[in-house]
Amino acid sequence: MSAGTEQERAVVAAVPDGLFIGGEWRPAAAGGVFSVEDPSLARELRTVADADADDAAAAAAAAADAQESWAATAPRERSEILRRGYELLIERREELALLMTLEMGKPLAEARGEVMYAAEFFRWFAEEAVRIEGGYQASPDGKDRFVVMKRPVGPVLLITPWNFPLAMGTRKIGPAIAAGCTMIIKPAEQTPLSMLKLAEILTEAGLPAGVLNVLTTSRPGEVVEPLMRGGVIRKLSFTGSTAVGRLLIEQSAEQVLRVSLELGGNAPFIVFDDADLDKAVEGAMAAKMRNIGEACTAANRMYVHASVADEFAERLAARMDALTVGRGTDGADVGPLIDEAGRTKVDELVADAVQRGAKVLTGGRHAEGEGYFYAPTVMTGVSPDSALMSQEIFGPVAPILTFIDEDEVIAAANDTEYGLVSYLFTENLHRAFRVSEKLDTGMIGLNKGVVSNPAAPFGGVKASGLGREGGRVGIDEFLETRYLAMPLG
Ligand code: NAD
Repeated sequence: MSAGTEQERAVVAAVPDGLFIGGEWRPAAAGGVFSVEDPSLARELRTVADADADDAAAAAAAAADAQESWAATAPRERSEILRRGYELLIERREELALLMTLEMGKPLAEARGEVMYAAEFFRWFAEEAVRIEGGYQASPDGKDRFVVMKRPVGPVLLITPWNFPLAMGTRKIGPAIAAGCTMIIKPAEQTPLSMLKLAEILTEAGLPAGVLNVLTTSRPGEVVEPLMRGGVIRKLSFTGSTAVGRLLIEQSAEQVLRVSLELGGNAPFIVFDDADLDKAVEGAMAAKMRNIGEACTAANRMYVHASVADEFAERLAARMDALTVGRGTDGADVGPLIDEAGRTKVDELVADAVQRGAKVLTGGRHAEGEGYFYAPTVMTGVSPDSALMSQEIFGPVAPILTFIDEDEVIAAANDTEYGLVSYLFTENLHRAFRVSEKLDTGMIGLNKGVVSNPAAPFGGVKASGLGREGGRVGIDEFLETRYLAMPLG
């Protein structure tokens, strides 16, 4: 049990116990549990049920049983459930934010922001649930009529990462409910508590038994693979690393599953000599430090025009230096990294960059505390062959490189297997459009360090994924198109 305050212990203890299958909370079939840690204390918070393949089979049966009746519910009814879910998330914001901070480490202010962001997906898809459109058209020879309809794709498997424990869930659950799909969700083993709480809230919002099933497990491969191959699941929606995404694409081949994948990123952050440096530094803080740098959208490589690079680096280093590092519950600006492995990876990437000639302006070391803290870091003179140029840093480290020529920086920005998001700072409108059209990413932040919004289509190209979440297209990922052909007489 948690070593924190009474309030912290109460919030953790209030998370339902067990797996959520067919509307019931039950222990894992084999009785196992696994430990969830508070990364700011490197200590156990509590244990949760450890599902195996038998539990996966039970969840698949529950999702299959509920699919027909759930697909037949009125869109308005599904919309109202999502709307109530939205309201309950807002109402419980403080409790959910504290729980998220305890299991993931992010500062409370950011956790509150994530609860709002997560809730917005329910509000958005409550509105989309009643706007699923079809069509009626004449065949080219005029003899037939085509009726085009959308229907739910069927039971879906949703897999989420640890970095946004709530929002990555609602971004998938929202459109699945709106479309009329039943689902099994498997949260990351580091952060299952927020998802268990969300299942309780959705039940209170009126979601029928079997529509949402939650499997927590320390052995994701053993639970997921039989679901992928089992014949019940019709679609996978996955957010996580590109390596696991690739494995799941392979597994999806057997049952020819539809797949949506939100994978890794390696975002370039480009500052031209005509940029407003106030906006660029502000944008860099947001693009780098949101979520302690543990975001797929995090600025991973900063390319700054040589004429403004020194000033930009100094100003960024001063801002980073002023940040407080500590427990997210104690009002710190920067929380711990998720675990020791995450911090070791940051250590290695920084050491490699330094060894290749980078200069550390601030940070470059662990920060004090029992947890996995790392000091906000700015490095200049980073060599393009450093490992962090091709790998996600997933920590509070800003590497700065310089450039002179527009074509040169576009080529450098695109020189990665990833293509999630890029950031571009310039006050020249022509340059903004010219460069935007050449950047090979699914999203672009123009003079802005955060692009995520439930009303916009989030997603990447190349090894950053397939499909889009949110926006008008978000629900399409959970719908099939069917048409009926008939002669007029
Ligand atoms: P991860 O791939 O290790 O884990 C993601 C999920 O996959 C977890 O639920 C995990 O349990 C599960 N998983 C792990 N091995 C599996 C297997 N063999 N079979 C089935 N499922 C398995 O990633 P992570 O470390 O939790 O998250 C960080 C990654 O997620 C980063 O690469 C980040 O860029 C990416 N991410 C992408 C987006 C996006 O929208 N593009 C958003 C957030 C995070």
